[in-house]
Order: sequence, then structure tokens, then C-alpha cells
Amino acid sequence: MKDDLVPILKSVNLKVTPQRLSILQIIRNKEHATIKDVFAAVRKTSPSISLATVYKNINTLVEHSILGVMSVNSSQAYYELSKSNQNIHVVCRGCGSITALQPTNQSMLGDIQKIADDDVLYVEIAAYINCDGCRKKEAALNKRAKG
Ligand SMILES: [Zn+2]
Repeated sequence: MKDDLVPILKSVNLKVTPQRLSILQIIRNKEHATIKDVFAAVRKTSPSISLATVYKNINTLVEHSILGVMSVNSSQAYYELSKSNQNIHVVCRGCGSITALQPTNQSMLGDIQKIADDDVLYVEIAAYINCDGCRKKEAALNKRAKG
């Protein structure tokens, strides 16, 4: 079943595409997969897909912390489904871009665990910002308005 993979993509506002679902499913089934493994498996169902497309999709999934990368040696990277149930999403209010971070503030997580009596199901924190690009755009607009 791929359907249970849909919420994973939606939780980080990623478009749900058949390629992304296939990639996630392949990696989940194998537990750890290299790009070559994924490419070979995806080709069975989508013969026209290119290695570049697979690569691009995997990178997007890594950027959104859906996939984790394990590097056994520098030339061989293995991808796995992120098991983390702790995510911080930094969301730009201007353009909607999202950066996913793993929380590193253990005292904050400790406080949550205390309240929940160590039974924390899922930590989802959103921080709303103006990203660099949007700040620059705004500054340029302000300059034009004044000048
Ligand atoms: Zn922005």
C-alpha cells in the first residue's frame, strides 16, 4: 500500500506524485537503499524515468527530512525513511517555503516529555519567518516606494 505514504508528503507540504510515492515505497520495503537500487526498482513501473529525476526527488525528500542519508563510505550513500517523530518546520509567510529541522534543544523536549509523562507521540513545531529572499524583495519594494 502506498496510500499511507501520502500523509508523509502532505505533512511537509510536498506535492504527492506517483514518482515520490514509488521512491518512498521502494526505500521503505528495502529499509536501506542506494540511488541505484531505487532507480532499478522505479524503472520497473516507470520505464521512462531518468536517473536525474530519481536523484532530484530523493534530494527533495532528504531536504524535507522524510528520508535520512546514511553514508557507509563516501561513495555509497544509503537512504532510509526517517524514523524521527520530532520535526521543526520553519515556514516563510511570504513565499511558503519550508525548511525542516531536527530539534536539538533537549531541555525543551525534556519539558514536553515531563508534561506527557514520557508518552510523546509526535512533536511538530512550526516557526513562521520571512525568508532571506522575501526580506530582500520587501527591502527592494520599500526602497522603490521611498525613492
Ligand atoms: Zn519567502
